[in-house]
Amino acid sequence: MVEWARGKVIKRLGGKDNVKKYKLPEAARGRLLRWFDGNKRDLPWRKTSDAYKIWVSEIMLQQTQVSTVIPFYRRFVEEFPTCAALAAASGDRVLQFWSGLGYYSRARSLHRAAREIMRNHAGRFPSLFGAALGLPGVGRYTAGAVLSIAYGKPFPVLDANVMRVFARLFALRRNLKDAAVQKELWAAAEDLISVERPGDWNQALMELGALVCVPENPRCRNCPVRGACRARRRGLENALPDTGKKPAGVPVVLSCLLAGQGGKLLLEKRPKDARFLPGHWGLPEISPLKAPVQEPVLTVRHCITRHNIRLGVYRSAVPKPFPSNYRWVARENLDRYLVSSLWKKVLAGYSSSLKSSRSPAE
Ligand code: SF4
Repeated sequence: MVEWARGKVIKRLGGKDNVKKYKLPEAARGRLLRWFDGNKRDLPWRKTSDAYKIWVSEIMLQQTQVSTVIPFYRRFVEEFPTCAALAAASGDRVLQFWSGLGYYSRARSLHRAAREIMRNHAGRFPSLFGAALGLPGVGRYTAGAVLSIAYGKPFPVLDANVMRVFARLFALRRNLKDAAVQKELWAAAEDLISVERPGDWNQALMELGALVCVPENPRCRNCPVRGACRARRRGLENALPDTGKKPAGVPVVLSCLLAGQGGKLLLEKRPKDARFLPGHWGLPEISPLKAPVQEPVLTVRHCITRHNIRLGVYRSAVPKPFPSNYRWVARENLDRYLVSSLWKKVLAGYSSSLKSSRSPAE
């Protein structure tokens, strides 16, 4: 018999308002957990109860698909098998193993948090919610996920999958981007969580959203909670959720220099307060207003979050004076320095333009 956390959790975490409409019959809740037991994907971070590894997976999974994360996760935890190993690594080394995953601020926060855990939490991801929330890069979702999955504590999660499942299960017609709606859904998630199996409950909701209650054409016939689903009963499963209109992308124009010498390329360590890719190595950026008058040798388009970047690459002589954050890097070592997909696109585009024009590399 599964014991549910109703009332208790709400009292502890607050937020009673409006949760009455988010009720799920006990039978449906049991079916969801049994469905998860029999259908959950075989994922590497599900084979461990190590809070550190679960935390790494949760950070990698933010904004990134499971199939993309798997090889990165495997390489990362092989290289940094413990929080101590991650804390002891250099920032550049950590970024190198994050290379290609994007959203690099996640890697930097993870690294800073690992050092903080070594300093203040005896090397163990904290089991207290408030302490977990105090770590860099750990928000309510991540704290809830790690504490429930690794330590069996009844803290809920609310990500895009869970919000979509709730919106359909409870036929919620309001815009999910609305802050008041999100507050209400967090309270509902607290109300619904299983005290006995909080980690499985949270993962079951997310797995249902990922595999069955998918954004387009939900597979209601295979859904373990279809009998309790109000959207399905009212024929609204394809109309919900209301996510509002997508904000338009923000156009950004950047310019950078391509300066080579003796088989080496000039790179710049970007300032920590750079708008994009702070602290990364990249081609030296210049103000678009100072870009050379000639046409760029290459133009690359790339998206970072909601910014649509158009990057012009200009061939240039070595700038004088030579700034201290510039460095000559041999071509065979560029992969270790240029970890962002933006710079990989530049290198790939430049190599193919060289092949087609048959001009010398430098
Ligand atoms: S019945 Fe359909 S819409 Fe309702 S929760 Fe299941 S998959 Fe989603």
